[in-house]
Amino acid sequence: MSNSITSVFFIGAGPGDPELITVKGMKAIQQADIVIYAGSLVSEKILGYAKEGVEIHNSASMNLEETTKVIIDGVKAGKAVARVHTGDPSLYGAILEQIAPLEKAGISYEIIPGVSSAFASAAYLKAELTLPEVSQTVIFTRVEGRTPVPEKERLSELAKHRATICIFLSVGMIDKVVAELLQGYPEDTPVAVVERASWPDERAITGTLKDIARKVKDAGIKRQAMIIVGDVLKSAVSGQRSAVRAKSKLYDKEFGHEYRK
Ligand code: SAH
Repeated sequence: MSNSITSVFFIGAGPGDPELITVKGMKAIQQADIVIYAGSLVSEKILGYAKEGVEIHNSASMNLEETTKVIIDGVKAGKAVARVHTGDPSLYGAILEQIAPLEKAGISYEIIPGVSSAFASAAYLKAELTLPEVSQTVIFTRVEGRTPVPEKERLSELAKHRATICIFLSVGMIDKVVAELLQGYPEDTPVAVVERASWPDERAITGTLKDIARKVKDAGIKRQAMIIVGDVLKSAVSGQRSAVRAKSKLYDKEFGHEYRK
C-alpha cells in the first residue's frame, strides 16, 4: 500500500461473482474494521472476506452525511475502513463526493480498482469490444434519468460514431435507448442486454435494434443489466465466431513488433 497510515479504502468489488474482486481489494476487506457496502449490488459473499465481528453498514439505506460520518469517526478511532463499491468505483460510483470530505479532514485514502460490469458482460457474451476494422472505440454512457446527461453526450449524438457503446443504468428506459440509438445506427445493428453478469442467475438477451426492446420486456428485465450495442457483437449475436474475418496486427505473422521480429 502506498502509505502506511492510509486507513480508508474505496474498493471495486467487481460485478457480482466474489472471485472477481482483485487480490488487493480482498486483502483490504480482510484487514478492515468497518465495512460499508453498496446493498444489493455487492454480493454478501464479498462480506465473507471480512474479519469476524467487524462493523458492517449497508449504504443503500444511508445518505452521504451518514456514510461520511461512519468513515471519519472510524478513522479517528484508529480503525481501518473498507468502502466497497460495485464494479469499478470510477464508473457511476459517486466517489468524488465521498472523497471531498476526507480530503478536507486530512484523511488519506486509496482507491482499489475493480472489474466493471461492462467487462463481465463482454466476457459472458464472449465478445471482443474492439474488433479491428469494425470498431476501435468503446463508450461508457447512460441515458438521462434523474441524473442529467450533458447535451453533447446524448445517446443520439454518440450513436453517430457507430462505435461500441456500453450503456449503464438504462435498461428500464429501453424504448428511449433504442429510439436514440436509431438516430445513428441502422436497424439491424446487433445489441445485447446482459442481466446480472457473473451472478449465478446471469443471462443475456440478444437481438437487433429492431427487436431488442420487445425481447427485453418479454424477458422481464428491468434492472441490473448492461446494454451493449455495435457491430462488434455481430458474431456474439449470430453465434458464428468462426466467421470473423478481420484479424489484429498483434498476432499477424506478417507483422513484427518489439517482442517478435
Ligand atoms: N461501477 C459499476 C456501475 C455502477 S452503476 C461498474 O463498474 O459496473 C449500476 C449499473 O451498472 C446498473 O444499472 C447496470 O447497468 C450495471 N451493472 C452493475 N452490475 C451489473 C451486472 N452484474 N451485470 C450487468 N450490469 C450490471
